[in-house]
Amino acid sequence: MSYDNNGGWYEYQIINAVNNWENPGWNNPINFVCASSNSGTMMDIYSKPSSFWPLNVRNGVLAETRFYDSSSVQINPANDYRFTRIFINDGTMHNQTAVQMKGTIAHEIGHTLGLDENNSNVYSIMCQTGNGRQVQTVQQIDNSTVVHIYS
Ligand SMILES: [Zn+2]
Repeated sequence: MSYDNNGGWYEYQIINAVNNWENPGWNNPINFVCASSNSGTMMDIYSKPSSFWPLNVRNGVLAETRFYDSSSVQINPANDYRFTRIFINDGTMHNQTAVQMKGTIAHEIGHTLGLDENNSNVYSIMCQTGNGRQVQTVQQIDNSTVVHIYS
């Protein structure tokens, strides 16, 4: 999977999160290549001010993954999406520790890879922080899901 890293000063945590998905401690087929532009990439990462989000959610969102078809039209992830854009909320993320930032980005990359929220398991990276996620790295349950999707 190729990706474009336009996340500004989050770059270091993005690289950490990508490395975490490639080498979580269990085998998987995931391999990322960082590209120098977003032409043809499958995952683009941006940081946005809180005002990017509607007023009623902007203080609760750390980041969001949106899904697009081959014409760059945003679609429901249940459909056959071709690429994603991950939007980091600079207004909330800058209050997070580096470890929390990496965890949030790893969670969003999980969505890019096809994983849904896993809010019933606080020891999954796919649990949302608001549901009490206890981990900031890819866990065996997450890796098993990705292996299932790509094998
Ligand atoms: Zn999520």
